[in-house]
Amino acid sequence: MTTNMISAARLIAHKTVNGRYQSRLQMDQFPVLGHQMTHSIDSFITDSANSATALYSGHKSTVNALGVYRDSSPSPFDDPRFESIAEIFQRLTRGGVGIVSTAFIADATPAAFTAHTSDRGQYGPVVDSFLNGATNYTWVNWTGPDVLFGGGAEQFLPGRTSYRGQDYYKLFAGKGYNVVLNNTALSSTPNNAKTLGIFSTSNLPVWLDRNVYKRNLNRGNSPDGKKANATDVPGLKQMTLKAIDILNARHRKEGWFLMSEAASIDKQMHTLDYDRALGDLLELDDTVKNTFAKLKQLGSDKETLVLVTADHGHGFDVAGSVDTKYLNAQTTDRRKRDSIGTYQESGLSQYVIPGAPQDTSSLQFSEGAAFPANWDPRYTLFSAVGANPDHRENYQVHKDGPRTPAVNSTAKDDDYIVNYKDAVTGFLVNGTLPVDNSQGVHSLTDVPVFAQGPCQELFGGVYNNIDIFFNMAACLGLARTT
Ligand SMILES: [Zn+2]
Repeated sequence: MTTNMISAARLIAHKTVNGRYQSRLQMDQFPVLGHQMTHSIDSFITDSANSATALYSGHKSTVNALGVYRDSSPSPFDDPRFESIAEIFQRLTRGGVGIVSTAFIADATPAAFTAHTSDRGQYGPVVDSFLNGATNYTWVNWTGPDVLFGGGAEQFLPGRTSYRGQDYYKLFAGKGYNVVLNNTALSSTPNNAKTLGIFSTSNLPVWLDRNVYKRNLNRGNSPDGKKANATDVPGLKQMTLKAIDILNARHRKEGWFLMSEAASIDKQMHTLDYDRALGDLLELDDTVKNTFAKLKQLGSDKETLVLVTADHGHGFDVAGSVDTKYLNAQTTDRRKRDSIGTYQESGLSQYVIPGAPQDTSSLQFSEGAAFPANWDPRYTLFSAVGANPDHRENYQVHKDGPRTPAVNSTAKDDDYIVNYKDAVTGFLVNGTLPVDNSQGVHSLTDVPVFAQGPCQELFGGVYNNIDIFFNMAACLGLARTT
């Protein structure tokens, strides 16, 4: 998530009421806004392992490191470790912990709560650490998360990609977890038990494909390993609300800590698929809105701090609009670029239904959230990132599935060139990154922190990502030794 992605969402969600611009984003209604700096200990640009470690532990580390200071030895498992806020919270309070992501669950952001390794790619051991914690460190008193929801069945099914070939569905069940593999089972599973929910192999399908271009759910990615298509898949909202129900039922007295990640905003931004990133950003906003409603319903809204932030940004921005009908009709790259309108020629968003009433309930938005009614309007956003591989742009939604902007020029080398098929009607945008990059990369931009609830005042202003750990720890009363 980046500030500019939120601005684009705001642009799409905009309504003008009595000549005044009005946004409907839930994120715009938080009482406190801060900005965090995301750089790592030894590089300007962070990855998600490094930044999740900073957010969860108060230690800046290095790229690819989870919960450790990387040492000079080659072993990924012998580096000096430190506790995450989930480990400290569980050890001191016996409170509940929930970990939810739309990524494969061994990915860095969920992994950094329990994994301690200098190599984020140790996916099998990461999943083992969710269940068993840091087994050779007696001071860690980890008993497993109450809730673990996401994708990444590869590390749970017995075989080559699970830790020591073990069946982690079975191992979690053996430790008292209910195991659910689809949205129907998720919604009906009882709230009083620890619950593992794995809903696909790899990353979960994105909002746009789950809700609009459903024929792209043809990935052979069912979480039971039978290579059927995972079609009964929860979104971030369904997973998050169920996680809250379970945490509230099990730990109302001691309290609970939940991290819920809209992972594909970043993943789709890497492949320059701004529509899919935007769909998942709007799903995040809808999740936040429904989280507040859920907390209110449970009587927990006054005692729950809600933080919405990102672990890093991409150099994304919008500089105008594109007349896609004009672009498609031109035959040369130079003429196609005339389809871009800037300043007064940029116009306004066409993603909402023209002339529709201000009441959102009458629009074809999913459950009242500000999702576009039309993902394929004539006038679209002129979007770009600051660092990219060679690619083509036609500024239109990719209806046949997530983008592949660049492809390898040979079978052997990391030498990426434009993928003509990715945007046939578009024009060539020359890459700025070294040619071994197939995707866009993270950037240095500060990212916003939205805060509401107890201690919200700690999160205003500009600060470092590690300060978020210290502020959360202070708010949870973790600055104690017993
Ligand atoms: Zn990323």
